[in-house]
Amino acid sequence: MSSVVIIGAGHAAGQVAASLRQDGHEGPIVLLGEEPFIPYQRPPLSKQYLSGEQAIERVYLRPQKFYDDKNIRVKTAVTVTRIDRTNKTVYTASGESFSYDDLVIATGSRARKLSIEGSNLGGIHYLRTVADVDAIRSEMGSGKKLVIVGGGYIGLEVAAVAVTSGMEVHVIEMEGRILQRVTTPEMSAYYHQLHTSRGVQIHTSTGVKGFTGDNGRVKGVFAGDQTFAADIVIVGIGIIPNIELAKDAGLTCENGIVVDDHCRTSDPHIYAIGDCSNHPNPLLGRRLRLESVPNAMDQARVTSANIRGQDKVYATIPWFWSDQYELKLQMVGFSADGNQQVLRGDKSANQFAVFYLKDGVLVAADAVNSPKEFMLCKNLVGKPVDAARLADPATDLKTL
Ligand code: FAD
Ligand code: NAP
Repeated sequence: MSSVVIIGAGHAAGQVAASLRQDGHEGPIVLLGEEPFIPYQRPPLSKQYLSGEQAIERVYLRPQKFYDDKNIRVKTAVTVTRIDRTNKTVYTASGESFSYDDLVIATGSRARKLSIEGSNLGGIHYLRTVADVDAIRSEMGSGKKLVIVGGGYIGLEVAAVAVTSGMEVHVIEMEGRILQRVTTPEMSAYYHQLHTSRGVQIHTSTGVKGFTGDNGRVKGVFAGDQTFAADIVIVGIGIIPNIELAKDAGLTCENGIVVDDHCRTSDPHIYAIGDCSNHPNPLLGRRLRLESVPNAMDQARVTSANIRGQDKVYATIPWFWSDQYELKLQMVGFSADGNQQVLRGDKSANQFAVFYLKDGVLVAADAVNSPKEFMLCKNLVGKPVDAARLADPATDLKTL
């Protein structure tokens, strides 16, 4: 019976362990995670777990009982420090070793840190883990001043929770618009207006230069030519993939751990999945390193199948979502690939979809509070569509 070791205990790791049992793998499965938790979901960390609506038990991917019943050994608070490919063994910081027939690297990513004047002061937080959110929550409170550095997903999802809870919120974004990395100028403008209307103060084209403090705790943020008073600061300026273990083991790495279309690294017995992996997408004809739950889960399923001896290719059109206030944004494909935009629905009613076409072919879509449209258009990506019919709310999308 072959043995599988999984490094990491996030979305990708938890799913590959579950899929292996579902696919009939009977050999040992060991999952080694650095955090003191069984695999959990990160999306609630900037949404319902941050607001207090969701307890930790509901954040776990699956309960402990699942791993017990499936005979999956989950070891938490364990850091893997070395992969010995010759002897097919991994070593941990505490001196334990685990041998494998197949190894899955699912080490995810870590928050990118600021290294500027005052950046080590108390009250300056990053948001990646349950421990980060527990620390943030203990310092939040109605009437307090929150400065958020970064107008990406983390910054805006946190801004929505914080302003709703009565905090005074400033978002500082270096680029000319929020959500620049992930969407079009039109969608950025829509979200800018939405947040402003709820009381969030957004400052674009504004770089953070440093922090002031008092008794070791942050009091202000220098940004642009202003100082913003702050009781608490949350920094969300992107992530760095955790590739060091793979690199040290001699695996090919370039913007992530390079894998083939079967999620295999340059070593055929080692797979890399989730935020840390850089894979070829045959549908888009280019390499991608994606930072999303659907990618982590789907790569995990493909990896399980391939460990089980099937011949499965990872080929999906990427999709994403973000919850801000009562709005659910769902995105499929990359809007930057389009050269024509088609609006369906009513932006002022916060219920619409924007379709992106390239030479008459649907390449991407952004849908706000329109889950039905989103589900249907996911299947239309890559197909020629009639723009006028797409825009007409009377057209049943199923007929396209
Ligand atoms: P991770 O979830 O990062 O898990 C990797 C794990 O490996 C970590 O627990 C880490 O501690 C562990 N590890 C690393 N190195 C070692 C080592 N050497 N030894 C042992 N363990 C190690 N995506 C969406 O699609 N929708 C959302 O709404 C969304 N919201 C998000 C909100 C927040 C606050 C954050 C931080 C992310 C969000 N994402 C969202 C992104 C999504 O959570 C990630 O893409 C996803 O978690 C990637 O899964 P992963 O398993 O690759 O990595
Ligand atoms: P992000 O989406 O990459 O956004 C970070 C933003 O901060 C970018 O606009 C970035 O600009 C900006 N920035 C960088 N340095 C800055 C500086 N010094 N001052 C001010 N702004 C700066 O990353 P994130 O919001 O931190 O999210 C972290 C991870 O969690 C990502 O993987 C993200 O996908 C994931 N996440 C996903 C969701 C979701 O899918 N709904 C929700 C939360 C988190 P540049 O682009 O120019 O660097």
